[in-house]
Amino acid sequence: MPELPEVETSRQGIEPYLLNQTITKVLIRNPQLRWPIPNNLTKQLKGKTIQAINRRGKYILIQIDKGNLILHLGMSGSLRISDPETAFRKHDHFVLTINHDKQLRLHDPRRFGAVLWQTGNPLKHKLLSKLGPEPLSEAFNTDYLYETNRNRKVSIKQHIMNSHIVVGVGNIYASEALFLAGIHPKRAAGRISKQRIEKLVAAIKQVLNAAIKQGGTTLRDFVKEDGQPGYFKQQLNVYGKTGDLCLVCGTPVKQIIQGQRSTYYCPQCQR
Ligand SMILES: [Zn+2]
Repeated sequence: MPELPEVETSRQGIEPYLLNQTITKVLIRNPQLRWPIPNNLTKQLKGKTIQAINRRGKYILIQIDKGNLILHLGMSGSLRISDPETAFRKHDHFVLTINHDKQLRLHDPRRFGAVLWQTGNPLKHKLLSKLGPEPLSEAFNTDYLYETNRNRKVSIKQHIMNSHIVVGVGNIYASEALFLAGIHPKRAAGRISKQRIEKLVAAIKQVLNAAIKQGGTTLRDFVKEDGQPGYFKQQLNVYGKTGDLCLVCGTPVKQIIQGQRSTYYCPQCQR
């Protein structure tokens, strides 16, 4: 599933081809995504100039005139810049032609992605309006996370994966950040000292920044016809490493299920 670093890499990958360019054609090859693609979209987009490409959480916001095209990659979505002559792939569901000579194609085999429109401020869209702060922003800091933790009995892993608390900390990055901070994933959020929360905030920023940096090396893949753009695995310490020896203490990495998702941790290093 594309996580925040993949979405940010996708944003950076498509930006140079879209910014200040004109949309000359809109093609909806299959409107049945997670929600139907609005049928007035062509009217909103055709002939308009793209003014900015932003990201909020895992949503890509393409700013046009008086509104924003909102894209979400769902479980299996990816974006690619193609020449219009290149044959479509089976799951290329949504296509924007840019200046008659390039196309942005949304490919999504499982169709959990979304293509939406919001007139005016995109952050007022109901999917975006209640999101917590961006993890890499100043607003996500020790004081903030400590305050949201107060008296919470929910596990710290589920707490940091809650998009109302902070956006974009997916399963991989939650496991890795808790390992770096030495915090047991099942520990109640409200029972962690401020000092340890400070470590956790730093660890979340560190793992996400490292993944985005790694993703930067894949940017040219957005215009290659072979290979899948924007997906990458950074060096992981615990995620997917059940039974491997912890690189710090040599204890076998454990796997448990929390909220229907696998969690990986070192039972010795994480308390
Ligand atoms: Zn360990």
